[in-house]
Amino acid sequence: MKTSRYNYILYTDTHGYWYNALTGSFFRLSSSLSKKIESLSEDLTFLEKNVKTMYDKMKDNGFIIPADVNEIDLVRQKHDEAVHRKDYFMVVLPTLNCNYSCWYCIQDHIPTVMSDTTLEALKRHIDYMIDVKEIESLHLDWFGGEPFMFFKKVIEPLSRYAINRCEEKGVPFMNGSTTNGYFLTPEVASLLTELKFKRFQITLDGEKKFHDKVKFTKGCESTFEHVLKNINNILSLNPDIRVFLRINYTHKTLTPQMVDEVNEFIEYNNRECITVTPKKVWQENTDKNFTSTIQQIIDLFDASGYKVSRWDIPSGSIPCYVSKEYYNAINFNGNVVKCTACNDLYERQAKGVLKDNGIIEWNDSYDIKCQSRTFENERCLDCKKLPVCVGICPRDHILGKTHCKYDVIDSDFEKDLINYLVHQYY
Ligand code: SF4
Ligand code: SF4
Repeated sequence: MKTSRYNYILYTDTHGYWYNALTGSFFRLSSSLSKKIESLSEDLTFLEKNVKTMYDKMKDNGFIIPADVNEIDLVRQKHDEAVHRKDYFMVVLPTLNCNYSCWYCIQDHIPTVMSDTTLEALKRHIDYMIDVKEIESLHLDWFGGEPFMFFKKVIEPLSRYAINRCEEKGVPFMNGSTTNGYFLTPEVASLLTELKFKRFQITLDGEKKFHDKVKFTKGCESTFEHVLKNINNILSLNPDIRVFLRINYTHKTLTPQMVDEVNEFIEYNNRECITVTPKKVWQENTDKNFTSTIQQIIDLFDASGYKVSRWDIPSGSIPCYVSKEYYNAINFNGNVVKCTACNDLYERQAKGVLKDNGIIEWNDSYDIKCQSRTFENERCLDCKKLPVCVGICPRDHILGKTHCKYDVIDSDFEKDLINYLVHQYY
């Protein structure tokens, strides 16, 4: 037997937290006992003989493994299984247009809308994925631009079609959207349950005064208030809906005061349906010292009754959803991309095209390239974070970039990990 190469033992003043990055298992011990076990585990035969219960616990949770196990191969195996899992995540962009113009947005708001021909091709695509590819579930996810600008024209009819086809074949269906929340008015909200909406990602831009400067529109005094009222309303109507409240921040716009401002509009009972995740806008420089400010704000949201994301790390054994075979983003004009967080949606030469028969034709096998393991390089294979991080962004990998993912984000892996572990025992 041997100890796993992915064991983390991190200390607070009172405890030692043990975490295995490959299995996700963890436990804690008092600091003194933890230090003793840490030193005893240098001799596993002695540990087994003298502290059998601890030895068994470590063995059962992947901290101690058979000597012939190659854990990197296990990372590879988990990655490949996740890439080919038949749960289809289908992103649809009814438009690239938006009612806002945020300064950091990479999208040009071209006045566009999906045509009836593309809508029909999408229906054929759903047929193809259900009947021929035999997907095991369908997750429809609306994106844009602002998708709810075309709720009646695109979202409602395609959702109804997908729901009927999935019901007919017994395929689980889920609806969701990344939206600015502006159009989730009471009229739209009343149809969300029928259309099986379960998940929204909605963005705020820091404190109210900053948000309203970034997101504004004629006839609305405060989009911050308007959107939070909409969120509160949809959760009051359907407590099964989950809202991921992403807070896009620069180091100036995110302060603890924001928590009270959000609380003012979200009733206490609805808060547990909301998960708060701060995200630095990509144009802002990286500042590892900002981690403690973020943790302070997250603690305040947590104490107010929200769910919080303490460890915003990709999980699911792949670096990004783009790696998945059963993931596509279909633009208003029938062009298909994998990554929606870059300019691919605007490129003249589309990565793929949805044909009228519902089949996607990819240029230069782009879809296959996205599925490759981005961690097959010396640095990642040697890295202790590998099972959690799973390598660099697939798009960067295709472009030949080689930087470490942690070089470009504020997060400090070990600080985030210990913060996450400590809160598992609250
Ligand atoms: S990208 Fe960086 S953190 Fe991720 S596995 Fe590679 S070296 Fe490790
Ligand atoms: S930029 Fe990279 S990591 Fe981000 S969504 Fe696109 S492919 Fe994934």
